[in-house]
Amino acid sequence: MEKLLIEKTTALLKKPQKIVIVAHQNPDGDAIGSSLGLYLFLKSNPTHKVSIIMPNDFPDFLKWMPAVENILIFEKNKSEASELIHEDTLIFTLDFNSFSRTKEMQNISETARADFIMIDHHQSPDDYALIAFSDTQMSSTSEMVYHFICAVDENFKITKEIATNLYTGIMTDTGSFRYPSTTAVTHRVLADLIDSGAPNSYIHEKVFDINTLERMKLLGVALNNLRILPHYKTAYITLSQEELDANNFKKGDTEGFVNYALTVKDIVFAAMFIEDKQEKIIKISFRSKGNFFVNEFSQNHFHGGGHINAAGGRSYDSLDETVTHFLQLLSRYKTALNES
Ligand code: 5GP
Ligand code: MN
Repeated sequence: MEKLLIEKTTALLKKPQKIVIVAHQNPDGDAIGSSLGLYLFLKSNPTHKVSIIMPNDFPDFLKWMPAVENILIFEKNKSEASELIHEDTLIFTLDFNSFSRTKEMQNISETARADFIMIDHHQSPDDYALIAFSDTQMSSTSEMVYHFICAVDENFKITKEIATNLYTGIMTDTGSFRYPSTTAVTHRVLADLIDSGAPNSYIHEKVFDINTLERMKLLGVALNNLRILPHYKTAYITLSQEELDANNFKKGDTEGFVNYALTVKDIVFAAMFIEDKQEKIIKISFRSKGNFFVNEFSQNHFHGGGHINAAGGRSYDSLDETVTHFLQLLSRYKTALNES
């Protein structure tokens, strides 16, 4: 972590502060894990008042995490959350780098009089932070929070609760330590988190062994809808609202489904299209291997973005129209896909 930025942060944290931690909409394991890890670290100094706000709710399989009961959901507590943000605060923005990723909170964040500190590992950060820790080489924001804590207070002893949160964030954002962003340093961090009390095997169980019969059946539907386009080294999955309803879909149920498409031999590009009649959008997930940049693909064609190998997007057309558009686009990328 950049020394000058750490010194600037340390100077701010020497004074009692009202601090708010915010992460992105549809918070994932890294958004929640990094926020809770940082929250517990900052709270260890009793002169600070610390709050966490997420734009909207998050999946049940993260609701066991230590201190999770302290998270305020903006969508459900708009006035309380707005008040906190408009206090004279220090706002940490975690696991995102553009206010557009905070959904309905965008206006409130943009008008806040606070100083912003960004900790994030996505590409192309916006220029809103007084202090920006932005590193696209990092496996996860949770790994960055680990380095941040060690840099801000080298004598701080990471507690079991902090270790558990950070381990969960690193685990979920690295696909259980298999994506190329997982480095030897990541593993050393994980080893230290286990030494600090993170119950690693328990965490894997809590996050991954949570299938309901309905989710397994929905996975069956998704796999049945899997289509392979060998010439484009591409695979995609669709799920209509009707199929979701028939299987009692709950938030988080489709998490990870897109990765099955990427496990097909020789496939380098996977997409999943999920109809959301309530939001009137098709929610899209893109994953890739090698140097096919799905964040650029999503940004250019599907109103989204993210990382090189994992991005999200949306379409305002019907499910069929969206898939047709996607298939038409592929021919433009044939060379890139075959060279990836
Ligand atoms: P997912 O497919 O799980 O929704 O998203 C994959 C990754 O892309 C996550 O790291 C997520 O934070 C990021 N992402 C998803 N949607 C968007 C978006 O609209 N804009 C940007 N910049 N990133 C996104
Ligand atoms: Mn992340």
